[in-house]
Amino acid sequence: MARDVPYSQAVACSSAQEGDNRLGEHEALLAAVERQLLVERVPLRFEQALALIELDTAWVPQLIALAHRVRLAYCGPDVELEALLNAKSGGCSEDCAFCAQAARHHSPIPVYRFLDTAQVVAAARRAEAAGASHYCLVVAVRGPNERLMAEVLEAVAAVRAATRLKVSCSLGLLTRAQAEQLAAAGVAMYNHNLETCRAFFPAICTTHTYDERMQTCQFAKAAGMELCCGGILGLGETPRQRVELAFELRALDPDEIPINFLNPRPGTPLADRPLLAPLDALRALAVFRLVFPDKLLRYAGGREVVLRDLQALGLLAGVNGLILGDYLTTTGRPPAADLQMLVDLEMPVR
Ligand code: SF4
Repeated sequence: MARDVPYSQAVACSSAQEGDNRLGEHEALLAAVERQLLVERVPLRFEQALALIELDTAWVPQLIALAHRVRLAYCGPDVELEALLNAKSGGCSEDCAFCAQAARHHSPIPVYRFLDTAQVVAAARRAEAAGASHYCLVVAVRGPNERLMAEVLEAVAAVRAATRLKVSCSLGLLTRAQAEQLAAAGVAMYNHNLETCRAFFPAICTTHTYDERMQTCQFAKAAGMELCCGGILGLGETPRQRVELAFELRALDPDEIPINFLNPRPGTPLADRPLLAPLDALRALAVFRLVFPDKLLRYAGGREVVLRDLQALGLLAGVNGLILGDYLTTTGRPPAADLQMLVDLEMPVR
């Protein structure tokens, strides 16, 4: 410090200088990532994703804008709409800490066996009429037994005969043979989320392992189905662990990445967890888009409670798929509200 500069002035100058340096760093980071993804088409690196997810609040609009440009360049403006059916609810043997369907959590949810085929088809017809092009049958189990597989295969055949919907299944852990049976029955995509990163997984589930989850994803891909694999944010993981999840997912090369946000369910160990802050949710969505420039990034459960009035911003931060209507144990927005949001954003339905 020069001797003839008063201390207070010197401090002001040095913090202004630091501010300028940081501003320059942030601008340089965003510009480098933009050039890397849009011109050189080189994948985002872990340390870049980490720096982006930790950007100050003042830089979130620029991060969102970059994710949107990347989404448009790789995927275009359209949005895919999927409907879920909770075809067998509750009574699950596993202990996923966020899940109301774990039998041990005694959450106040309806518990029922696999629905009749006629009910599954009726729900599919309603989903198609509401605008969905993709329909996922979900069951709350560790993995399907022989009887459940037979019921699912019958329902899949009936839905495929009655509608033009792309049919997915989410049945928990699969054997290689079960994955092959589903693929042979015309199941186009299998959903199995990693839920969170490997390092944090033992804090949310102890009844099966991360490697078992990854193996099911690999079986699904090897059988020829597309892979839908994402996670749930806001479980207590750090921003760094969100980036770890993104890169662990990237190693599986999924076709679609659904991003859920924790909506704490009564009866579960996470019932009292605070909601993720909306800007943290948007930071994460934007970073997932930049990690997966050309994939379908889907808004899944929890967006209504976490993002509230900011839901449309997720679609400007890289999201290009929605779950239309209700989730597995929670209520979604009316489909008309989401369809109006897409009209307002000038994002056509795929
Ligand atoms: S395996 Fe699925 S249904 Fe069962 S507790 Fe975990 S998340 Fe819930």
